[in-house]
Amino acid sequence: TSLMPAQTAPADPGPAPSSPALAEIEGREISAWFGDRKVLDRVSLVMPAGGVTALIGPSGCGKSTFLRILNRMHELVPSAALAGEVLLDGEDIYDPGKRLIDARRSIGMVFQKPNPFPAMSIRENVLAGLKLTGTRASRSEKDDLVESCLVKGGLWNEVKDRLDAPGGGLSGGQQQRLCIARSLAIKPRVLLMDEPCSALDPTSTRVIEETMLDLAREVTIVIVTHNMQQAARVSDQCAFFLASHGTPGVIVEHGETQAMFGSPRDQRTSDYVNGRF
Ligand code: ADP
Ligand code: MG
Repeated sequence: TSLMPAQTAPADPGPAPSSPALAEIEGREISAWFGDRKVLDRVSLVMPAGGVTALIGPSGCGKSTFLRILNRMHELVPSAALAGEVLLDGEDIYDPGKRLIDARRSIGMVFQKPNPFPAMSIRENVLAGLKLTGTRASRSEKDDLVESCLVKGGLWNEVKDRLDAPGGGLSGGQQQRLCIARSLAIKPRVLLMDEPCSALDPTSTRVIEETMLDLAREVTIVIVTHNMQQAARVSDQCAFFLASHGTPGVIVEHGETQAMFGSPRDQRTSDYVNGRF
């Protein structure tokens, strides 16, 4: 069990790896607190390389907290504490000898509410992560990256003629695909998505689901979703989180999505996936 190390910014992060292989990410015995309140209790989950793992369960059971622990965002909350390990291909991202920037560069995040930089151009939005991670690229490398990320984000055809238009001028669904493209520019090995479609209409949702299924070939995806049909459509594996009567969140059941939806082992899973609470 490792305690959270202090956050330090390195001087020179150096070049990013050019073609990272698919990575497995694992939370091992993760417990989390906000002040005195424990919100996760020894949660362990392996999210296999190249798969889509869906985290499901009622509000407040710690899904977002677990996701934020996977990319070291939990420690940004002043009252937050953490125990356990997060292993990216077997290496603990909380190891005090490891640089925070390496974890951040390996693990992309997309939030519920699309959050492009509204005044920045579409092109600059995609490239924003390079600045944050200190990755250098030539003009033509940047052009290639903008195109490939927007293609992967399923947005290229809609924006290729107006890359200099502000990101804030796009529709909600387009903005979320821009955020996906932006998160891909740093070539993450894992993409974390916290209810990425909850603020979107059904058409945009389906477009993003298609995008996710394509992306799963090159990046390990972990998605929090309240939408059981969505979990069934996009994920290979599901983990059902529950925090009953004020106890900290735990994983009640996890396994292959089809099996979990078709023949859940736990009555509480069955009740949840069938909409009974
Ligand atoms: P979920 O994503 O499953 O809805 P969360 O991980 O957001 O659940 O929240 C888990 C618990 O932690 C909830 O009880 C929530 O109120 C609490 N919590 C989340 N964020 C904070 C915070 N920044 N400060 C204090 N408590 C928080
Ligand atoms: Mg949440």
